[in-house]
Amino acid sequence: MALIPAALHLPAVDQVLAWPGLAGLLASQGRQPVLDAVRAELAERRAAARLAPAGAAPDPAELLAGITAKLQAWAQPSLRPVFNLSGTVLHTNLGRAPLPAQALAAIAQVAAGASNLEFDLASGRRGDRDDHVEAWLRRLTGAEAATVVNNNAAALMLVLGSLARRREVIVSRGELVEIGGSFRLPEIMALAGCKLREVGTTNRTHLQDHADAFGPRSAMVLKVHTSNYRIEGFSAAADERELGALCKQQGLPFVVDLGSGSLVDMARYGLPREPTPQQALAAGADLVTFSGDKLLGGPQAGIVVGRADLIAKLKKNPLKRALRCDKLTLAALEAVLRLYADPERLQQQLPTLRLLARPAAQIEALAQRLQPVLAAWLMLGLSDLAIAVEVVALSSQIGSGALPVERLPSHGLRLTPSGAKRRSGSALEALAARLRALPVPVVGRIADGALLLDLRCLEDEPGFRTLFETGRA
Ligand SMILES: *Cc1c(COP(=O)(O)O)cnc(C)c1O
Repeated sequence: MALIPAALHLPAVDQVLAWPGLAGLLASQGRQPVLDAVRAELAERRAAARLAPAGAAPDPAELLAGITAKLQAWAQPSLRPVFNLSGTVLHTNLGRAPLPAQALAAIAQVAAGASNLEFDLASGRRGDRDDHVEAWLRRLTGAEAATVVNNNAAALMLVLGSLARRREVIVSRGELVEIGGSFRLPEIMALAGCKLREVGTTNRTHLQDHADAFGPRSAMVLKVHTSNYRIEGFSAAADERELGALCKQQGLPFVVDLGSGSLVDMARYGLPREPTPQQALAAGADLVTFSGDKLLGGPQAGIVVGRADLIAKLKKNPLKRALRCDKLTLAALEAVLRLYADPERLQQQLPTLRLLARPAAQIEALAQRLQPVLAAWLMLGLSDLAIAVEVVALSSQIGSGALPVERLPSHGLRLTPSGAKRRSGSALEALAARLRALPVPVVGRIADGALLLDLRCLEDEPGFRTLFETGRA
Protein backbone atom coordinates (compact mmCIF):
# COMPACT_ATOMS: atom_id res chain seq x y z
CA MET A 1 0.00 0.00 0.00
CA ALA A 2 1.31 3.40 -0.86
CA LEU A 3 1.28 5.58 2.19
CA ILE A 4 1.02 9.31 1.91
CA PRO A 5 4.45 10.67 2.79
CA ALA A 6 4.35 12.37 6.17
CA ALA A 7 6.47 15.15 4.75
CA LEU A 8 3.66 16.24 2.48
CA HIS A 9 1.52 18.79 4.21
CA LEU A 10 -1.57 18.95 2.06
CA PRO A 11 -4.33 20.84 3.80
CA ALA A 12 -7.61 19.09 4.69
CA VAL A 13 -10.68 19.72 2.55
CA ASP A 14 -12.43 21.70 5.30
CA GLN A 15 -9.38 23.87 5.79
CA VAL A 16 -9.31 24.77 2.11
CA LEU A 17 -13.03 25.52 2.09
CA ALA A 18 -12.47 28.04 4.89
CA TRP A 19 -9.80 29.96 2.96
CA PRO A 20 -10.88 33.58 2.38
CA GLY A 21 -9.67 33.25 -1.22
CA LEU A 22 -12.42 30.69 -1.86
CA ALA A 23 -15.31 32.83 -0.56
CA GLY A 24 -16.00 34.38 -3.95
CA LEU A 25 -16.14 31.00 -5.71
CA LEU A 26 -18.41 29.55 -3.03
CA ALA A 27 -20.83 32.45 -3.46
CA SER A 28 -20.85 32.34 -7.28
CA GLN A 29 -20.63 28.57 -7.96
CA GLY A 30 -22.37 27.00 -4.94
CA ARG A 31 -20.93 24.78 -2.22
CA GLN A 32 -21.09 21.34 -3.84
CA PRO A 33 -19.26 22.18 -7.10
CA VAL A 34 -16.51 23.98 -5.15
CA LEU A 35 -16.24 21.05 -2.74
CA ASP A 36 -15.90 18.66 -5.71
CA ALA A 37 -13.21 20.86 -7.26
CA VAL A 38 -11.26 21.06 -3.98
CA ARG A 39 -11.40 17.27 -3.60
CA ALA A 40 -10.34 16.70 -7.20
CA GLU A 41 -7.45 19.15 -6.90
CA LEU A 42 -6.23 17.63 -3.61
CA ALA A 43 -6.50 14.12 -5.04
CA GLU A 44 -4.33 15.15 -7.98
CA ARG A 45 -1.73 16.66 -5.69
CA ARG A 46 -1.73 13.56 -3.51
CA ALA A 47 -1.17 11.36 -6.54
CA ALA A 48 1.65 13.60 -7.75
CA ALA A 49 3.22 13.52 -4.29
CA ARG A 50 3.31 9.72 -4.38
CA LEU A 51 5.39 9.88 -7.53
CA ALA A 52 7.72 12.55 -6.13
CA PRO A 53 7.63 12.19 -2.34
CA ALA A 54 10.46 14.65 -1.84
CA GLY A 55 8.64 17.50 -3.61
CA ALA A 56 7.74 20.68 -1.76
CA ALA A 57 4.22 21.24 -0.45
CA PRO A 58 2.19 23.39 -2.89
CA ASP A 59 1.48 26.93 -1.88
CA PRO A 60 -2.17 28.00 -1.39
CA ALA A 61 -2.19 30.32 -4.40
CA GLU A 62 -1.26 27.39 -6.62
CA LEU A 63 -3.98 25.21 -5.13
CA LEU A 64 -6.50 27.99 -5.57
CA ALA A 65 -5.54 28.41 -9.23
CA GLY A 66 -5.96 24.67 -9.77
CA ILE A 67 -9.40 24.70 -8.14
CA THR A 68 -10.52 27.69 -10.21
CA ALA A 69 -9.30 26.05 -13.40
CA LYS A 70 -11.31 22.91 -12.61
CA LEU A 71 -14.49 24.90 -12.02
CA GLN A 72 -13.95 26.80 -15.27
CA ALA A 73 -13.41 23.61 -17.22
CA TRP A 74 -16.59 22.10 -15.80
CA ALA A 75 -18.58 25.23 -16.67
CA GLN A 76 -17.61 24.92 -20.33
CA PRO A 77 -20.14 22.83 -22.27
CA SER A 78 -18.57 19.88 -24.03
CA LEU A 79 -20.85 20.23 -27.07
CA ARG A 80 -20.48 23.78 -28.34
CA PRO A 81 -20.39 25.89 -31.49
CA VAL A 82 -17.34 26.06 -33.75
CA PHE A 83 -16.59 27.99 -36.93
CA ASN A 84 -16.68 25.48 -39.78
CA LEU A 85 -14.02 26.75 -42.19
CA SER A 86 -13.19 23.24 -43.39
CA GLY A 87 -14.59 23.85 -46.85
CA THR A 88 -17.15 21.05 -46.40
CA VAL A 89 -20.60 22.56 -45.96
CA LEU A 90 -22.43 19.48 -44.65
CA HIS A 91 -19.64 18.17 -42.42
CA THR A 92 -20.83 15.13 -40.47
CA ASN A 93 -18.27 15.58 -37.68
CA LEU A 94 -19.25 19.24 -37.35
CA GLY A 95 -22.98 18.58 -37.09
CA ARG A 96 -24.11 18.80 -40.75
CA ALA A 97 -26.91 21.25 -41.59
CA PRO A 98 -27.21 24.54 -39.67
CA LEU A 99 -30.89 25.08 -38.82
CA PRO A 100 -32.93 28.10 -39.92
CA ALA A 101 -34.31 30.56 -37.35
CA GLN A 102 -37.81 29.20 -37.88
CA ALA A 103 -36.69 25.73 -36.77
CA LEU A 104 -34.89 27.11 -33.71
CA ALA A 105 -38.03 28.99 -32.70
CA ALA A 106 -40.16 25.87 -33.18
CA ILE A 107 -37.78 23.81 -31.02
CA ALA A 108 -37.81 26.42 -28.24
CA GLN A 109 -41.62 26.57 -28.25
CA VAL A 110 -42.12 22.85 -28.04
CA ALA A 111 -39.18 22.02 -25.76
CA ALA A 112 -40.27 24.07 -22.78
CA GLY A 113 -43.56 22.37 -22.02
CA ALA A 114 -46.34 20.03 -23.05
CA SER A 115 -47.35 19.74 -26.70
CA ASN A 116 -49.75 17.76 -28.89
CA LEU A 117 -46.92 15.41 -29.92
CA GLU A 118 -49.14 12.31 -30.01
CA PHE A 119 -52.47 13.88 -29.22
CA ASP A 120 -55.17 14.64 -31.76
CA LEU A 121 -56.59 18.00 -30.77
CA ALA A 122 -59.73 17.55 -32.90
CA SER A 123 -60.88 14.27 -31.36
CA GLY A 124 -59.06 14.42 -28.03
CA ARG A 125 -57.70 10.94 -28.76
CA ARG A 126 -54.24 9.60 -29.17
CA GLY A 127 -52.46 10.87 -32.27
CA ASP A 128 -49.44 9.84 -34.35
CA ARG A 129 -46.25 11.88 -34.05
CA ASP A 130 -45.65 11.52 -37.79
CA ASP A 131 -48.81 13.56 -38.41
CA HIS A 132 -46.92 16.81 -37.82
CA VAL A 133 -44.74 16.27 -40.87
CA GLU A 134 -46.51 13.69 -43.01
CA ALA A 135 -48.86 16.11 -44.77
CA TRP A 136 -45.92 18.34 -45.68
CA LEU A 137 -43.90 15.42 -46.98
CA ARG A 138 -46.84 14.22 -49.06
CA ARG A 139 -47.39 17.67 -50.49
CA LEU A 140 -43.70 18.28 -51.26
CA THR A 141 -42.86 14.87 -52.73
CA GLY A 142 -46.19 13.76 -54.16
CA ALA A 143 -45.99 10.54 -52.12
CA GLU A 144 -49.06 8.78 -50.71
CA ALA A 145 -47.61 8.50 -47.22
CA ALA A 146 -44.50 9.18 -45.14
CA THR A 147 -42.84 8.30 -41.86
CA VAL A 148 -39.81 9.65 -40.04
CA VAL A 149 -37.14 8.06 -37.83
CA ASN A 150 -33.82 9.05 -36.28
CA ASN A 151 -31.62 9.08 -39.37
CA ASN A 152 -31.43 7.57 -42.82
CA ALA A 153 -29.48 4.53 -41.63
CA ALA A 154 -32.39 3.82 -39.26
CA ALA A 155 -34.88 4.42 -42.08
CA LEU A 156 -33.16 1.82 -44.23
CA MET A 157 -32.99 -0.58 -41.31
CA LEU A 158 -36.73 -0.13 -40.73
CA VAL A 159 -37.58 -0.69 -44.39
CA LEU A 160 -35.46 -3.84 -44.61
CA GLY A 161 -36.64 -5.19 -41.26
CA SER A 162 -40.31 -4.57 -42.09
CA LEU A 163 -40.45 -5.79 -45.69
CA ALA A 164 -37.62 -8.27 -46.18
CA ARG A 165 -36.91 -10.22 -42.99
CA ARG A 166 -35.54 -13.70 -43.78
CA ARG A 167 -35.86 -12.98 -47.47
CA GLU A 168 -33.66 -11.73 -50.26
CA VAL A 169 -32.91 -8.12 -51.13
CA ILE A 170 -31.59 -7.65 -54.65
CA VAL A 171 -28.84 -5.01 -54.91
CA SER A 172 -26.40 -4.13 -57.68
CA ARG A 173 -22.76 -4.88 -56.81
CA GLY A 174 -21.84 -1.30 -57.74
CA GLU A 175 -24.05 0.00 -54.94
CA LEU A 176 -22.81 -1.95 -51.92
CA VAL A 177 -21.60 1.21 -50.26
CA GLU A 178 -19.98 2.18 -47.02
CA ILE A 179 -21.10 5.59 -45.83
CA GLY A 180 -18.85 7.21 -43.25
CA GLY A 181 -17.71 5.44 -40.06
CA SER A 182 -19.59 2.22 -39.57
CA PHE A 183 -22.49 2.16 -41.99
CA ARG A 184 -21.97 -0.60 -44.50
CA LEU A 185 -24.88 -1.80 -46.53
CA PRO A 186 -24.08 -5.54 -46.23
CA GLU A 187 -23.85 -5.18 -42.44
CA ILE A 188 -27.13 -3.27 -42.17
CA MET A 189 -28.74 -6.05 -44.21
CA ALA A 190 -27.41 -8.73 -41.89
CA LEU A 191 -28.53 -6.77 -38.86
CA ALA A 192 -32.02 -6.39 -40.31
CA GLY A 193 -32.16 -10.14 -40.90
CA CYS A 194 -32.14 -9.96 -44.70
CA LYS A 195 -30.22 -11.92 -47.22
CA LEU A 196 -28.23 -9.87 -49.65
CA ARG A 197 -28.54 -10.97 -53.27
CA GLU A 198 -25.84 -9.18 -55.26
CA VAL A 199 -26.29 -8.80 -58.98
CA GLY A 200 -24.14 -7.51 -61.81
CA THR A 201 -20.52 -6.41 -61.42
CA THR A 202 -18.84 -3.49 -59.71
CA ASN A 203 -18.91 -1.28 -62.77
CA ARG A 204 -21.83 -2.63 -64.82
CA THR A 205 -25.24 -3.96 -63.90
CA HIS A 206 -28.02 -4.47 -66.43
CA LEU A 207 -31.76 -4.86 -66.14
CA GLN A 208 -31.43 -8.53 -67.06
CA ASP A 209 -29.11 -9.12 -64.07
CA HIS A 210 -31.95 -8.06 -61.81
CA ALA A 211 -34.53 -10.08 -63.73
CA ASP A 212 -32.37 -13.22 -63.45
CA ALA A 213 -32.21 -12.83 -59.66
CA PHE A 214 -35.97 -12.79 -59.06
CA GLY A 215 -37.19 -15.89 -57.26
CA PRO A 216 -39.59 -17.12 -54.60
CA ARG A 217 -37.40 -15.74 -51.79
CA SER A 218 -37.07 -12.24 -53.26
CA ALA A 219 -38.48 -9.52 -51.03
CA MET A 220 -37.49 -6.30 -52.78
CA VAL A 221 -35.09 -4.56 -55.10
CA LEU A 222 -32.98 -1.90 -53.41
CA LYS A 223 -31.27 0.85 -55.33
CA VAL A 224 -28.69 2.84 -53.36
CA HIS A 225 -27.71 6.24 -54.62
CA THR A 226 -23.92 5.90 -54.56
CA SER A 227 -23.58 9.35 -53.20
CA ASN A 228 -20.07 9.42 -51.80
CA TYR A 229 -18.18 8.09 -54.81
CA ARG A 230 -18.65 7.73 -58.49
CA ILE A 231 -17.67 4.98 -60.88
CA GLU A 232 -16.49 6.70 -64.04
CA GLY A 233 -15.70 5.30 -67.47
CA PHE A 234 -17.07 1.94 -68.61
CA SER A 235 -20.00 1.72 -66.26
CA ALA A 236 -23.72 1.12 -66.42
CA ALA A 237 -26.65 0.76 -64.08
CA ALA A 238 -30.13 -0.47 -64.87
CA ASP A 239 -32.45 2.36 -65.84
CA GLU A 240 -34.55 3.33 -62.86
CA ARG A 241 -37.79 3.44 -64.85
CA GLU A 242 -37.23 0.02 -66.38
CA LEU A 243 -36.26 -1.42 -63.00
CA GLY A 244 -39.40 0.11 -61.47
CA ALA A 245 -41.55 -1.39 -64.22
CA LEU A 246 -39.90 -4.80 -63.82
CA CYS A 247 -40.54 -4.76 -60.05
CA LYS A 248 -44.17 -3.78 -60.58
CA GLN A 249 -44.62 -6.64 -63.02
CA GLN A 250 -43.10 -9.07 -60.49
CA GLY A 251 -45.05 -7.57 -57.57
CA LEU A 252 -41.90 -6.69 -55.63
CA PRO A 253 -41.35 -3.37 -53.87
CA PHE A 254 -38.71 -1.15 -55.48
CA VAL A 255 -36.92 0.83 -52.77
CA VAL A 256 -34.51 3.70 -53.43
CA ASP A 257 -32.08 4.96 -50.76
CA LEU A 258 -31.31 8.46 -51.97
CA GLY A 259 -28.95 9.38 -49.15
CA SER A 260 -28.92 13.14 -49.50
CA GLY A 261 -32.09 13.87 -51.33
CA SER A 262 -33.02 17.41 -51.93
CA LEU A 263 -36.66 18.36 -52.20
CA VAL A 264 -36.02 20.97 -54.88
CA ASP A 265 -34.09 20.98 -58.13
CA MET A 266 -30.70 22.34 -57.03
CA ALA A 267 -30.03 23.61 -60.57
CA ARG A 268 -32.60 26.31 -59.88
CA TYR A 269 -30.05 27.84 -57.47
CA GLY A 270 -27.09 27.39 -59.80
CA LEU A 271 -25.98 24.19 -58.05
CA PRO A 272 -25.19 20.76 -59.48
CA ARG A 273 -28.21 18.49 -59.87
CA GLU A 274 -28.98 15.90 -57.20
CA PRO A 275 -31.85 13.43 -57.65
CA THR A 276 -35.02 14.29 -55.73
CA PRO A 277 -37.48 11.91 -54.03
CA GLN A 278 -40.14 13.27 -56.42
CA GLN A 279 -38.10 12.03 -59.39
CA ALA A 280 -37.46 8.63 -57.81
CA LEU A 281 -41.18 8.18 -57.09
CA ALA A 282 -42.10 9.28 -60.59
CA ALA A 283 -39.62 6.74 -61.98
CA GLY A 284 -41.45 3.96 -60.18
CA ALA A 285 -39.95 3.70 -56.70
CA ASP A 286 -42.39 2.33 -54.12
CA LEU A 287 -40.41 3.76 -51.21
CA VAL A 288 -37.68 6.39 -51.07
CA THR A 289 -35.48 7.04 -48.03
CA PHE A 290 -33.31 10.11 -47.40
CA SER A 291 -31.66 12.13 -44.63
CA GLY A 292 -33.11 15.19 -42.90
CA ASP A 293 -29.76 16.87 -42.24
CA LYS A 294 -28.03 16.60 -45.59
CA LEU A 295 -29.21 18.67 -48.58
CA LEU A 296 -32.67 19.03 -47.06
CA GLY A 297 -31.03 21.35 -44.52
CA GLY A 298 -33.01 20.19 -41.49
CA PRO A 299 -32.43 18.26 -38.27
CA GLN A 300 -30.96 14.75 -38.13
CA ALA A 301 -33.75 12.46 -39.31
CA GLY A 302 -34.45 9.63 -41.72
CA ILE A 303 -37.43 10.17 -43.97
CA VAL A 304 -39.33 7.44 -45.84
CA VAL A 305 -41.92 8.42 -48.44
CA GLY A 306 -43.97 6.26 -50.80
CA ARG A 307 -46.80 3.75 -51.00
CA ALA A 308 -49.32 3.97 -48.16
CA ASP A 309 -49.62 0.20 -47.66
CA LEU A 310 -45.85 -0.17 -47.26
CA ILE A 311 -45.54 2.86 -44.95
CA ALA A 312 -48.34 1.31 -42.82
CA LYS A 313 -46.18 -1.84 -42.45
CA LEU A 314 -43.23 0.26 -41.29
CA LYS A 315 -45.37 2.04 -38.72
CA LYS A 316 -46.60 -1.27 -37.31
CA ASN A 317 -43.09 -2.65 -36.80
CA PRO A 318 -41.91 -2.38 -33.15
CA LEU A 319 -38.58 -1.19 -34.57
CA LYS A 320 -40.36 2.05 -35.50
CA ARG A 321 -40.95 2.68 -31.81
CA ALA A 322 -37.25 2.14 -31.08
CA LEU A 323 -36.10 4.36 -33.94
CA ARG A 324 -38.65 7.17 -33.61
CA CYS A 325 -37.67 10.87 -33.53
CA ASP A 326 -38.16 13.08 -30.52
CA LYS A 327 -40.39 16.14 -30.40
CA LEU A 328 -37.50 18.59 -30.91
CA THR A 329 -36.58 16.95 -34.19
CA LEU A 330 -40.18 16.89 -35.37
CA ALA A 331 -40.66 20.55 -34.45
CA ALA A 332 -37.54 21.51 -36.43
CA LEU A 333 -38.39 19.28 -39.38
CA GLU A 334 -41.91 20.67 -39.69
CA ALA A 335 -40.52 24.23 -39.68
CA VAL A 336 -37.95 23.38 -42.36
CA LEU A 337 -40.49 21.60 -44.60
CA ARG A 338 -42.76 24.64 -44.33
CA LEU A 339 -39.97 26.76 -45.88
CA TYR A 340 -40.01 24.53 -48.96
CA ALA A 341 -43.53 25.72 -49.74
CA ASP A 342 -41.92 28.87 -51.13
CA PRO A 343 -38.90 27.89 -53.26
CA GLU A 344 -38.29 31.53 -54.21
CA ARG A 345 -37.41 32.54 -50.68
CA LEU A 346 -35.85 29.22 -49.74
CA GLN A 347 -32.33 30.29 -50.62
CA GLN A 348 -32.55 33.24 -48.25
CA GLN A 349 -34.22 31.35 -45.43
CA LEU A 350 -32.52 27.97 -45.42
CA PRO A 351 -28.90 28.27 -44.25
CA THR A 352 -27.68 25.11 -46.04
CA LEU A 353 -28.90 26.36 -49.40
CA ARG A 354 -27.74 29.91 -48.69
CA LEU A 355 -24.22 28.65 -47.95
CA LEU A 356 -24.11 26.29 -50.92
CA ALA A 357 -25.30 28.97 -53.34
CA ARG A 358 -23.23 31.79 -51.84
CA PRO A 359 -21.59 33.81 -54.63
CA ALA A 360 -17.80 33.35 -54.82
CA ALA A 361 -17.33 37.12 -55.14
CA GLN A 362 -19.05 37.67 -51.80
CA ILE A 363 -16.76 35.11 -50.15
CA GLU A 364 -13.72 36.74 -51.74
CA ALA A 365 -14.69 40.17 -50.40
CA LEU A 366 -15.03 38.63 -46.94
CA ALA A 367 -11.57 37.08 -47.27
CA GLN A 368 -10.11 40.46 -48.25
CA ARG A 369 -11.64 42.08 -45.16
CA LEU A 370 -10.43 39.37 -42.80
CA GLN A 371 -6.89 38.98 -44.13
CA PRO A 372 -5.49 41.92 -42.08
CA VAL A 373 -7.36 40.76 -38.95
CA LEU A 374 -5.72 37.34 -39.06
CA ALA A 375 -2.34 38.78 -40.02
CA ALA A 376 -2.38 41.12 -37.00
CA TRP A 377 -3.40 38.33 -34.64
CA LEU A 378 -0.66 36.03 -35.89
CA MET A 379 2.00 38.75 -35.50
CA LEU A 380 1.11 39.11 -31.83
CA GLY A 381 1.33 35.47 -31.01
CA LEU A 382 4.58 34.08 -32.29
CA SER A 383 8.10 35.31 -32.30
CA ASP A 384 9.88 32.18 -33.54
CA LEU A 385 7.59 31.51 -36.47
CA ALA A 386 6.38 33.87 -39.15
CA ILE A 387 3.10 33.02 -40.79
CA ALA A 388 2.05 34.46 -44.10
CA VAL A 389 -1.67 35.07 -44.64
CA GLU A 390 -2.95 35.31 -48.20
CA VAL A 391 -6.33 35.44 -49.84
CA VAL A 392 -6.68 32.42 -52.13
CA ALA A 393 -9.26 30.80 -54.38
CA LEU A 394 -10.46 27.50 -52.93
CA SER A 395 -13.09 24.96 -53.81
CA SER A 396 -15.66 23.84 -51.27
CA GLN A 397 -17.50 20.59 -51.31
CA ILE A 398 -21.08 19.88 -50.37
CA GLY A 399 -20.22 17.01 -48.02
CA SER A 400 -22.15 14.14 -46.45
CA GLY A 401 -21.73 12.20 -49.62
CA ALA A 402 -23.70 14.54 -51.84
CA LEU A 403 -22.14 15.13 -55.24
CA PRO A 404 -18.63 13.92 -54.38
CA VAL A 405 -17.04 15.09 -57.59
CA GLU A 406 -18.55 18.54 -57.97
CA ARG A 407 -16.77 21.48 -56.36
CA LEU A 408 -18.10 24.93 -55.52
CA PRO A 409 -15.77 27.84 -56.30
CA SER A 410 -14.92 29.59 -53.04
CA HIS A 411 -12.31 31.78 -51.36
CA GLY A 412 -10.46 31.81 -48.11
CA LEU A 413 -7.22 32.46 -46.29
CA ARG A 414 -4.07 30.42 -46.65
CA LEU A 415 -1.87 30.47 -43.56
CA THR A 416 1.67 29.37 -44.41
CA PRO A 417 4.41 29.12 -41.78
CA SER A 418 7.77 30.44 -42.95
CA GLY A 419 11.15 30.83 -41.32
CA ALA A 420 13.03 28.22 -39.31
CA LYS A 421 10.27 25.63 -38.89
CA ARG A 422 8.89 26.38 -42.32
CA ARG A 423 6.64 23.76 -43.79
CA SER A 424 7.23 21.50 -40.88
CA GLY A 425 4.17 19.44 -40.09
CA SER A 426 4.43 20.21 -36.41
CA ALA A 427 4.30 23.99 -36.98
CA LEU A 428 1.13 23.55 -39.00
CA GLU A 429 -0.40 21.27 -36.41
CA ALA A 430 0.45 23.77 -33.68
CA LEU A 431 -1.16 26.57 -35.67
CA ALA A 432 -4.31 24.52 -36.26
CA ALA A 433 -4.40 23.67 -32.55
CA ARG A 434 -4.18 27.35 -31.61
CA LEU A 435 -7.19 28.14 -33.78
CA ARG A 436 -9.09 25.26 -32.22
CA ALA A 437 -8.25 26.58 -28.74
CA LEU A 438 -9.99 29.93 -29.34
CA PRO A 439 -13.13 30.66 -27.26
CA VAL A 440 -15.14 29.63 -30.31
CA PRO A 441 -12.91 27.03 -31.98
CA VAL A 442 -12.01 27.65 -35.64
CA VAL A 443 -11.72 24.48 -37.73
CA GLY A 444 -9.85 24.73 -41.02
CA ARG A 445 -8.09 22.10 -43.10
CA ILE A 446 -4.43 21.36 -43.70
CA ALA A 447 -3.38 20.88 -47.30
CA ASP A 448 -0.17 21.39 -49.29
CA GLY A 449 1.89 22.68 -46.38
CA ALA A 450 -0.65 25.31 -45.33
CA LEU A 451 -3.67 25.77 -43.12
CA LEU A 452 -6.66 26.70 -45.30
CA LEU A 453 -9.64 28.60 -43.94
CA ASP A 454 -12.49 28.35 -46.45
CA LEU A 455 -14.83 31.24 -45.67
CA ARG A 456 -17.95 29.93 -47.47
CA CYS A 457 -19.63 28.98 -44.18
CA LEU A 458 -18.62 32.07 -42.22
CA GLU A 459 -21.71 34.23 -41.84
CA ASP A 460 -21.07 35.73 -38.39
CA GLU A 461 -18.29 38.12 -39.41
CA PRO A 462 -18.55 40.34 -36.27
CA GLY A 463 -18.35 37.28 -33.99
CA PHE A 464 -15.34 36.01 -35.88
CA ARG A 465 -13.55 39.37 -35.71
CA THR A 466 -14.14 39.62 -31.96
CA LEU A 467 -12.39 36.33 -31.54
CA PHE A 468 -9.18 37.68 -33.07
CA GLU A 469 -9.40 41.19 -31.71
CA THR A 470 -9.86 40.15 -28.06
CA GLY A 471 -8.30 36.69 -27.90
CA ARG A 472 -4.57 37.27 -27.98
CA ALA A 473 -2.70 34.33 -29.37
C1 LIG B 1 -25.74 9.44 -45.74
C2 LIG B 1 -26.34 8.22 -46.31
C3 LIG B 1 -26.96 7.29 -45.47
C4 LIG B 1 -27.00 7.45 -43.98
O1 LIG B 1 -27.79 8.54 -43.63
P1 LIG B 1 -27.76 9.11 -42.13
O2 LIG B 1 -28.89 10.09 -42.09
O3 LIG B 1 -26.43 9.71 -41.93
O4 LIG B 1 -28.00 7.95 -41.22
C5 LIG B 1 -27.52 6.17 -46.06
N1 LIG B 1 -27.47 5.98 -47.39
C6 LIG B 1 -26.87 6.85 -48.22
C7 LIG B 1 -26.83 6.57 -49.69
C8 LIG B 1 -26.29 8.01 -47.71
O5 LIG B 1 -25.69 8.89 -48.53
